[in-house]
Amino acid sequence: MSSAPDGMAAQILAGDRRALARAITLIESTRADHRREAEALLEAVLPRTGRSLRIGISGPPGVGKSTFIEAFGRHAISAGKRLAVLAVDPTSRLSGGSILGDKTRMEELSRMEEAFIRPSPAGLTLGGVARRTREALLLCEAAGFDLILVETVGVGQSETAVAEMVDLFLLLLLPGGGDDLQGIKRGIMELADIIVVNKADGDLAPAAERSAADVANALRLMQPLHKAWRPEVLRCSALKNIGIEAIWERTEAFAAALGGSGELPARRRIQAKSWLWHELSDNLLETLKSHPIVAERLIDLEAKVAAGKMAPATAARQVLAAFLGG
Ligand code: GDP
Repeated sequence: MSSAPDGMAAQILAGDRRALARAITLIESTRADHRREAEALLEAVLPRTGRSLRIGISGPPGVGKSTFIEAFGRHAISAGKRLAVLAVDPTSRLSGGSILGDKTRMEELSRMEEAFIRPSPAGLTLGGVARRTREALLLCEAAGFDLILVETVGVGQSETAVAEMVDLFLLLLLPGGGDDLQGIKRGIMELADIIVVNKADGDLAPAAERSAADVANALRLMQPLHKAWRPEVLRCSALKNIGIEAIWERTEAFAAALGGSGELPARRRIQAKSWLWHELSDNLLETLKSHPIVAERLIDLEAKVAAGKMAPATAARQVLAAFLGG
């Protein structure tokens, strides 16, 4: 099977969508031989990656993420882009399916030749989903997609994971969120490069205007993440397709500003290094847990720690000694 990734790499580089879909299935597999093939494939396509704008999209459930991605995606395509939509959805392992797997979402976009939509892999932890999404992102770039949207369902940790793999983090909010900003934690606000108040239409338009002003005030108190960019607040109606073009223009302005200041390539270098460390710590932990002597010792040590008969630090040191000794 070792030649399979070579053929596959060529197909992906030629923009073959079915090969791309198969390759993403390969990288989502946890089988050791599949992992080796996936790594060979990623090595083969790596020189052809990195030429897209990577945008993370987050926001509370019901804010209109899929409606927005549909409108934004259509606009990007009309501007000559080819876009891939990936998801980081840590809930998909609970429901057994993915939110993005729901056929009614992004219906129009999913029928377009210039778009590629891939649901979140099921059956993985958030760390696993994030790792595989990063790899899928590289494969999509190699296949010639020059705009990658990574959607996250607004629950806790997934936003941080997405912010670590994209160039631009776009946060969607609802009109009239009030002081608590719709349960969006301050830390997540701080990750945002562009904040968009969606549903700025009909009866909700005045509330959207007030929310945008509130968010703009809150942002003024925050330390900007970049030298060349201050986070911006915009309004749109994804449903009525109002304000989408302005958002598209600001994403391009962001890319130009951070590309010009050198912060974009710097951010990607930091992300790549941090990815290496995530891989290392995950792999080390898996190797350690599957070590036969360690696994046996762990049963006993875990029981002792749980019963309060041994300090966790002592147990951890003994586990490491067993691992390194054998
Ligand atoms: P998601 O859960 O964040 O992906 O949200 P959806 O895109 O599924 O949208 C949730 C609901 O909000 C749907 O009923 C949409 O039709 C509606 N919606 C989305 N965008 C807008 C908008 O701009 N204006 C209005 N009035 N409704 C919207």
